[in-house]
Amino acid sequence: MSEIQIPFNKPALLGHEFDYVREAIERGKISGDGHFTKLCQETLKNATGAASVLLTTSCTHALEMAALLLDIQPGDEVIVPSFTFVSTANAFVLRGARPVFIDSRPDTLNLDENQIEALMTPRTKVIVPVHYAGVGCAMDRIIDIANSRGVHVVEDNAHGLFGRFRDRALGSFGNLAAQSFHETKNISCGEGGALVINDLRLNTRAEILREKGTNRASFFRGQVDKYTWVDVGSSYVPSDILAAFLHAQLEAAEQIQATRRAIWLRYSHELADWAAGFDVRLPIIPAECEQAYHMFYLLLPTLEDRQALIHHLGEVGIMAVFHYVPLHLTPRGQKFGGRQGDCPVAEALSDRLVRLPFYFNLSEGDQARVIEAVRSFRPAGSKQIRNLQRSLAEQAPLCETAPDRLPTSHR
Ligand SMILES: *Cc1c(COP(=O)(O)O)cnc(C)c1O
Repeated sequence: MSEIQIPFNKPALLGHEFDYVREAIERGKISGDGHFTKLCQETLKNATGAASVLLTTSCTHALEMAALLLDIQPGDEVIVPSFTFVSTANAFVLRGARPVFIDSRPDTLNLDENQIEALMTPRTKVIVPVHYAGVGCAMDRIIDIANSRGVHVVEDNAHGLFGRFRDRALGSFGNLAAQSFHETKNISCGEGGALVINDLRLNTRAEILREKGTNRASFFRGQVDKYTWVDVGSSYVPSDILAAFLHAQLEAAEQIQATRRAIWLRYSHELADWAAGFDVRLPIIPAECEQAYHMFYLLLPTLEDRQALIHHLGEVGIMAVFHYVPLHLTPRGQKFGGRQGDCPVAEALSDRLVRLPFYFNLSEGDQARVIEAVRSFRPAGSKQIRNLQRSLAEQAPLCETAPDRLPTSHR
């Protein structure tokens, strides 16, 4: 690979981050739950319509809090997509739960809601939908199943902030939802997250778990006269310095989302005919979903094509990357009984998926270079190229086709 000129991701900087970080420091309270933490929580409450939102040190920690709040015990089962980040499962495994991996829908790559019921047992406690690429899962169906079977729903909404399903905010459907503000997400502060609490009955205990098992939050509100150890817990409170950075990004959320939308639409329009011509699948956004513009991916005809495209882009300094290895095939996933063939859709799509550079500061010129480089690639596994190769081979003795017109996946 030549030197990277267009990276896969660059964190956005909107301009006010430094001002707010300075202000947080000048306010003299740089531990958690200060001025900026409150502002961020208010913004996120408005964005999701949640009863309460607590900033956390990461999405992983918000998921861990969810597992604690729902009293997940050893032997409990949690239904998680195989095609997701490790934390979706690990937060529950940490409490002794067994992850039950569910396959993906071929269109949105989200968990296939039609397979949930067959995977449920009396030990099933939680379903954890992940809104992949910020495109909503079938939350109406998932909530119906959960309600009828008395199990909880925790949305892993790391990709989905500001996305909507049937005109309702992602993150507002589950008992709880987890947000991420990791550097790779649309809105970020480097490392950070939030627990979105839709069931207000969980709020008091959530505050306690987040504050090392103490009732510090009630104490500061004057609701109790002693601040003491009352429950298990850990330290899930981010510094107000990070919240200050995050506030600057949340304030600019409309601008960030509008820019990401424009970049997404440009990829989608300008790659459409190339993709149709070479059996490459572009993202599918169902009519009931307003996506969060988190990612632009391609599904190539084969694993070899996917690898060849990554190489082809790397040759001209463009970094494109694949994504999750299905969890049921990882070393840890196999210990829970995961085997090749358990989730055939996830297995196939994971091999064929590549993500293109996608970030707030991606210039039109750089995006045009990415588009041009992708369009010059000929997937050897596509029908079109296979037919062309076959007919060229048949004519080979007579044909004067220049060798450079022969499609090779590595060009
Ligand atoms: C990024 C991500 C996480 C983890 O987020 P952190 O804030 O880094 O802990 C969890 N789930 C999904 C789907 C993610 O993309």
